[in-house]
Amino acid sequence: MTEFRTVFPERAAPLDFLPRGDAPAPELGGKLLARESDLHRIIVVGGGAGGLELVTRLGDTLGRHGQAEIFLVDKYLHHLWKPLLHEVAAGTLRLEDNEVTYLGQARSHHFRFRFGTMEGMDRARREIYLAPTLDEDGNEVSPRRIIPYDTLVLAVGSVTNDFGIPGVKEYAWPLNEPRDARRFHRRLLAASVHCQILDGQEPLDIAIVGAGATGVELAAELHQTVREFVSYGLDKIDPGRIRITLVSSTPRILPGLPESLSAAVHAKLASLGIEILCNERVVKIDKDAVLTASGKRLPALVTVWAGGIKAPDFLAHLGLETNRMNQLVVDATLRTGQDEHIYALGDCAAAPWLGREPGTIVPPRAQAAHQQAMLLAKSLKRQLTAGKPAPEFQYRDFGSLVSLGRYEVLGNLMGKVGGRGMMVHGLFARFMYWFLYQKHLMVLNGVSRVFLSLAARLIAKSTQPRVKLH
Ligand SMILES: Cc1cc2nc3c(=O)[nH]c(=O)nc-3n(C[C@H](O)[C@H](O)[C@H](O)COP(=O)(O)OP(=O)(O)OC[C@H]3O[C@@H](n4cnc5c(N)ncnc54)[C@H](O)[C@@H]3O)c2cc1C
Repeated sequence: MTEFRTVFPERAAPLDFLPRGDAPAPELGGKLLARESDLHRIIVVGGGAGGLELVTRLGDTLGRHGQAEIFLVDKYLHHLWKPLLHEVAAGTLRLEDNEVTYLGQARSHHFRFRFGTMEGMDRARREIYLAPTLDEDGNEVSPRRIIPYDTLVLAVGSVTNDFGIPGVKEYAWPLNEPRDARRFHRRLLAASVHCQILDGQEPLDIAIVGAGATGVELAAELHQTVREFVSYGLDKIDPGRIRITLVSSTPRILPGLPESLSAAVHAKLASLGIEILCNERVVKIDKDAVLTASGKRLPALVTVWAGGIKAPDFLAHLGLETNRMNQLVVDATLRTGQDEHIYALGDCAAAPWLGREPGTIVPPRAQAAHQQAMLLAKSLKRQLTAGKPAPEFQYRDFGSLVSLGRYEVLGNLMGKVGGRGMMVHGLFARFMYWFLYQKHLMVLNGVSRVFLSLAARLIAKSTQPRVKLH
């Protein structure tokens, strides 16, 4: 598969003045993607859990009826729903079967797709800048481009936050993008083959730093995957010598979720033999070990970094208000305070959680991105076609589900009236977890196509190994 990379040749200097909305247009050069019509142009940057649902809805309404031009910009050509990444990393889910191609989605849903990485903007001229892109052999795929907009929605998600800890960038594997997950899977397979060749004499140590949902779910998936490798012929690996350690600086795993759910998941992981170290602050990652503030050195052939997220750095240079996680501060209509033409949603937005203590913001979750996309699709349509004011976003927390792969799905579902929620597990919890992803696909493809592709996948699955072996 072709991989593209973005180049930021002048990052050191001009990026500082690039985004100043009140400055004259920077003399950067770049190909201007001129307007082809007088229609109002809405650009959504980021085709993730929220952005892709938003452009699909806007395309099906405003785009289809010629009421506005809808554009999606993304730095990749494909979309994968991020909560599936740990399954791709473990090899229990095939990336190729679950990707949505932006160009195909655009054609079916009356919007246009532009490939590129947004690196800055000129707010006064209402233009965004896309960095030049090279393919893996260094050939230019796209030059620097400038795209004018009338309304801009930033939905660029989040990136891994390494908090400046030495060795994270060099030696730990992030799990934030499909290519991270694919590369990690290859590393895991290579490490397993290495152990096999050494007749299983060396332990296979895997450390996961961060015990939020990503770290916890990955730990269970990896436990399952490595045992599958053994059953597919890597039989010199002694399951008793596969050590998975979950390291967290917090007093308990899943710190953002209810205590009862955290305790139930902890018990399940412990019963699988996964070691859980809480209250251990990681201070350094080495090539083959994780070092903690209390002086522990945990051997690790493979280390995964799931220790935190932040919004992409370029957002902090747009002249718009951001918080310390680089999230754009938006009001209850999801509009930025400094610019009425710019909205933000999903992980990159700090939106007020109405009904909670002042200052509480909506958590960075797929369900929040989905709800915000639905609201903004209605809101932009109402504003454009009926001149009505933008409605306010009221986040509804339906609870959380944690998938421990084949072993168990546990969760806490919130009732209609809020309150403490209800613990769920077993088949019902598994169905609900599965349904979350299907719901995303239904927004993108419609119900009938989701059922057709489900049937196709079930047939294909019966001829494939349970884990990806390449
Ligand atoms: C492993 C993992 C498991 C998770 N599990 C769950 C879960 O079980 N439940 C849950 O609710 N949430 C879960 N989350 C969180 C959830 O995935 C995110 O909250 C959600 O994807 C946020 O949606 P978004 O649209 O804001 O951003 P994303 O889905 O991250 O999409 C951002 C998009 O922007 C594009 N982009 C980024 N920068 C640029 C740029 N400069 N220019 C152009 N394009 C750009 C990216 O390519 C991407 O397509 C999980 C996250 C991870 C990593």
